[in-house]
Amino acid sequence: MRLIFLGPPGSGKGTQSQNICKDYGIKQISTGDILRKNVKDQTELGKIAAEYMNKGELVPDKIMIDIIASELKKPDYLKGFLLDGFPRTIPQAEALDGMMSKMGLKLNCVLVLEVPHEEIIQRISLRRVDKKTGKIYHLLFNPPLPEDNVELYQREDDKEETIRRRLMVYESQTKPLIKYYSSMGLAFKINGVGDFKEVYERIVKVLDSRLEV
Ligand code: ADP
Ligand code: ADP
Repeated sequence: MRLIFLGPPGSGKGTQSQNICKDYGIKQISTGDILRKNVKDQTELGKIAAEYMNKGELVPDKIMIDIIASELKKPDYLKGFLLDGFPRTIPQAEALDGMMSKMGLKLNCVLVLEVPHEEIIQRISLRRVDKKTGKIYHLLFNPPLPEDNVELYQREDDKEETIRRRLMVYESQTKPLIKYYSSMGLAFKINGVGDFKEVYERIVKVLDSRLEV
């Protein structure tokens, strides 16, 4: 199964991706995670990316398309993949279409997670990530258990000002992708408000109807 996960920052894509990948036996490709690893390792790519990420802006298309092109060549994704955070612009989506058709691959669906802005701000401002496992927590809604033995940190771009900028960027640059994939009959909207399990059940309903394409 090959999926794209669209939705504003903080809508719950990363959280739900962890379950989807486990249950459907596919691997997640999170461009945010790939970029953050490069920033942490202080690679050339990381140094360039950090300048955009810290301002809440998008990293240039060419860089992102090259990352995905080399990622998709890996054998990890033979059973499928879930793209979390890519594509984020129309040129990225067009490049992905080109790569997939060259490889003879089809998308099963594009999930569009919908959550109102006020709730997103609440979710992101208390989002914390475990340094060791990368697991996503929320200080109120999904706090770690004592036995999880976590070392939590707050993402550099999860400050309120940057969140607002990221939401604006989503509206102007990423939202047009919903129309793009709707016109191909691939976009499925999911109400992202509700508890984790409830949202996951809505996702599973869509995915099970799209297993064969
Ligand atoms: P979130 O999960 O909160 O939406 P991500 O972890 O996906 O955020 O991305 C963090 C940042 O990394 C983005 O704000 C952007 O600067 C950069 N980034 C990630 N994916 C892309 C992409 N496909 N195109 C451009 N920039 C990206
Ligand atoms: P994204 O990958 O779309 O940026 P995350 O999965 O990181 O979003 O979720 C953002 C924050 O919201 C995290 O702290 C997460 O624990 C929390 N969260 C995710 N789903 C829900 C939900 N259904 N209800 C409440 N909080 C949620």
